Amino acid sequence: MIFPSLVIQGTAFHTPERGRIDVIENGAIAVAPDGTIETVLHPEAGEYQALIDAAGSRGVLMRLDPESYLIPGLIDLHIHAPQWPQLGKALDAPLEEWLQTYTFPLEAKFADLEFARVVYDDLVRTLLAHGTTTAVYFGSVDFQANVILAQTCLRHGQRALVGKVAMDHVDQCPDYYRDESAVSALEETRRFIETVRQMKQGDHPLVRPAITPRFIPSCTDTLLQSLGALAAQTGCHVQTHCSESDWEVAHVRERLGQTDAEALDGFGLLTDRTILAHSNYITGSDMRLLANRGSAVAHCPLSNAYFANAVFPVRDALDKGVDVGLGTDISGGFSPSIFDAVRCALVASRHACSGTDPLLTPDDRGTASEPLSAADSFWLATAGGGRSLSSPIGLFRSGYHFDALCIRSNSPQSAFRVNASLDSPVDVFEKLVLTSDRSCIEHVWVDGKRRVLEGEVVAKP
Ligand SMILES: [Zn+2]
Repeated sequence: MIFPSLVIQGTAFHTPERGRIDVIENGAIAVAPDGTIETVLHPEAGEYQALIDAAGSRGVLMRLDPESYLIPGLIDLHIHAPQWPQLGKALDAPLEEWLQTYTFPLEAKFADLEFARVVYDDLVRTLLAHGTTTAVYFGSVDFQANVILAQTCLRHGQRALVGKVAMDHVDQCPDYYRDESAVSALEETRRFIETVRQMKQGDHPLVRPAITPRFIPSCTDTLLQSLGALAAQTGCHVQTHCSESDWEVAHVRERLGQTDAEALDGFGLLTDRTILAHSNYITGSDMRLLANRGSAVAHCPLSNAYFANAVFPVRDALDKGVDVGLGTDISGGFSPSIFDAVRCALVASRHACSGTDPLLTPDDRGTASEPLSAADSFWLATAGGGRSLSSPIGLFRSGYHFDALCIRSNSPQSAFRVNASLDSPVDVFEKLVLTSDRSCIEHVWVDGKRRVLEGEVVAKP
């Protein structure tokens, strides 16, 4: 047996099932040289002390400070990488104006590869520093800028899916920013998949390509059909937007006479590797279709407050068997932090359940379902995201990739306070989920390797 390359001793939190917190108090997590978790031991385990002693003598033991905690790395299922420079800008504009006046001109600038290099380097480093160990990126239409984004993720060691955005519809896309034709969009997508798959990566590729039709309105039927066929040929992930807003749902209904989910299924785009952003307006039968196909939803609660006109019925979708994780939707949302997405999901769910109109009676005001708990929302950001990607990430379990964060309490920069005489382990977990931010994140590991803020790989703990 090859000895672990890293053993971390300390207290860890994760959520093996939705809503259930597992506290591993003063545990030992052994990471194999290939970056996967070899074993997770509680102190009562027979081999515990021998592992700690051997790791200590080999110089691979990392003891967490008693005020620090280990959690799985955060998974962001929906990011528009080229919108990073406009984070927090113009969010009061209606969607159509936001896209045409701000977003499309900005995304078109990524044909300038030096601009792309600078922006993407900053984006990937910033997201890692915020604890995003896995990122699912929409790129831009321009082929080469997407290659730069994939290379940037590899260089900084962020697990990622990257997609070249395909959009060819002349009525919905500006002349200066669209694929020339359905054929050229398909060929560029195919070339991008091959390019990423040929990048020099280890045994478990960190960065993978995704087929990325922007959304139904911006693509012709011919393009959507051919990308569905490409998904079947290549086994690639698929990402797109689904049933996001009143306007978009009505547009698809008028053009195709179907819901988004039904139409995407008809085009062959609903697979067990599909991630659908938003999906606020999916019906009960859409939910059953997604569950049957194994397709997942990227719930983006902050962005939905601006552009979706409704709250995604997250608990209903989960209860119907749909895989759901969280997304920031940079820059439809103004925060790059999945901790903020966790909290926005909680707030949105509480508003939906209690209702928002004080003139109505309590019985008529909200939906009948239960709001999310802190443990539910944390599960979405970790294990739920991993399930959505069909990847062994988001949990501390043997065979899973060791993607993790070390979170420090009681630092002067943050509000995450722990008082040993007042707080039970579950209290500490809830405080961590509700009050942590970037300033609490001491260390970030992806695939067993520690990443520092500047994105350098440090070989040893
Ligand atoms: Zn989006």
